[in-house]
Amino acid sequence: MGSLAGKTALVTGASRGIGRGIARELARQGALVAVHYGENEQAAHVTLELIGQEGGQAFPVRAELGVPGDIETLYSQVENELAQQGQGPELDILVNNAAVSGSARIHEVTPELFDRLFAVNTRSLLFLVQRGLKNLRNGGRIINVSSAATRIAYPESVVYSMTKGALNTFTLALAKELGPRGITVNAVGPGFVETDMNAGKRTTEDAAAELAAWSVFNRVGRPSDIAEVVAFLASDASRWITGQCLDASGGSGL
Ligand code: NAP
Repeated sequence: MGSLAGKTALVTGASRGIGRGIARELARQGALVAVHYGENEQAAHVTLELIGQEGGQAFPVRAELGVPGDIETLYSQVENELAQQGQGPELDILVNNAAVSGSARIHEVTPELFDRLFAVNTRSLLFLVQRGLKNLRNGGRIINVSSAATRIAYPESVVYSMTKGALNTFTLALAKELGPRGITVNAVGPGFVETDMNAGKRTTEDAAAELAAWSVFNRVGRPSDIAEVVAFLASDASRWITGQCLDASGGSGL
């Protein structure tokens, strides 16, 4: 029995990259995982297959975030699926991982880019949590996937960094709000991780080496590097940690 046996988790953006890694790790530790995705059904099914092969339990949830009705679309599927499995609508772990990036320095930012990044990375996340508080059990866990770009200046993606800064502030305020319910709220701040999000930045050997050099370990992170930190924050072992942004960047920018 894993340490998360009997727990139910919702992981947004679990079809690919870091979210897939998180969903796999939580399932490996015994949680039933709602694998949320936006449009890439095939990738979501790969996540489900991997979890199945590893002896875990999961189901898919499709909802495009950052559009009207997104939150109800998501929770109605989660609740229907849990009901089909003979379970109530309760969740123990909510991992807000889905996000979009957007490389743009200050002179390249457009109102459309600004609105899109804040709609997906910040606005939908807040309302996803607000609605999810009905489902989240007392003693539960909220984990927000932030970025080391909130600690290290990264003008190449100024708006993206701002969305993650807002996420850290949200984490802090929410941790105090939910303390009386025994719910911990933390963020994790990855540095560069090998996923589709930054594949365009690793197209040549030199470019890949440049990304690797951000970490004191001279490599780009792997989804599992982040997933195991998230699993710790989801576990009982982290019960005395709340309101924190835990850097998981391999010592980037030290
Ligand atoms: P990724 O490989 O691009 O995967 C993004 C995931 O989010 C996919 O599952 C995608 O679903 C989902 N998603 C994106 N936009 C969505 C939308 N509008 N509605 C619904 N689902 C949506 O990203 P990643 O690199 O794993 O990043 C995961 C998290 O880590 C993000 O919060 C990111 O900001 C953060 N992060 C990443 C890095 C890095 O270097 N990769 C560094 C720091 C922080 P579909 O598959 O359906 O499109």
